[in-house]
Amino acid sequence: MSGIEDILANNRQWVATKNAQDPEFFKRLANGQQPRYLFIGCSDSRVPASGITGTGPGEMFVHRNIANMVVHTDLNLLSVLQYAVEVLGVQDILVVGHYGCGGVAAAAANKQYGLIDNWLVNIRDVVRLHEIELLRIKDEQQRLRRLVELNVIEQVQNLAKTNIIQNAMRGDKPPRLHGLVYDIADGVLKDLGINSLDVADELEHIYATEAPHEVDGDANSYEGPNVDPAKEAGE
Ligand SMILES: [Zn+2]
Repeated sequence: MSGIEDILANNRQWVATKNAQDPEFFKRLANGQQPRYLFIGCSDSRVPASGITGTGPGEMFVHRNIANMVVHTDLNLLSVLQYAVEVLGVQDILVVGHYGCGGVAAAAANKQYGLIDNWLVNIRDVVRLHEIELLRIKDEQQRLRRLVELNVIEQVQNLAKTNIIQNAMRGDKPPRLHGLVYDIADGVLKDLGINSLDVADELEHIYATEAPHEVDGDANSYEGPNVDPAKEAGE
């Protein structure tokens, strides 16, 4: 067997194992989801969201892209974020970078790769913001490792810049933002110790925005500009 046959055989084995362990497992999942976590990670095949966090089906909402980026024009990321925060009510949002990230390494080099160069520009922005710190690190591997960490920190900040997170932070159950880095070489997940409230405070004076006020508490009651049509007609 090879390829897709392996996948299907593995799936049947997994179904059998799950049913043997817990006959209600699939019935329960079919009733809906209420995951506690949102995972924003890299597409790298060596960084499986469930495997490295010990979470199973129903526990983690997942978004992955090259180099775990939070880009404000990425409709996919924004849709996932809004749904996770406002509908599912996730409590913890994890931005998970990883050492040995090909996307980060490509952004640190000056070679063209095609379409992806436009995506990598977002990581080059992180290099520009932290250029002095990065230039002080002489060892190239250490410099790349630090860039992976700085990129995670910047993406957590990018989360805090969205109106989705700002509105959620003003609500009853604000989600906590976390920056983590996974080490492919030893499997360990490291917490960068980012405090969501500190991040929000730091960015507030430039990025904080407020929702528009509703007219008479009901957005549907708006009846157009406050102009008298008779005066407008010159009568
Ligand atoms: Zn990666």
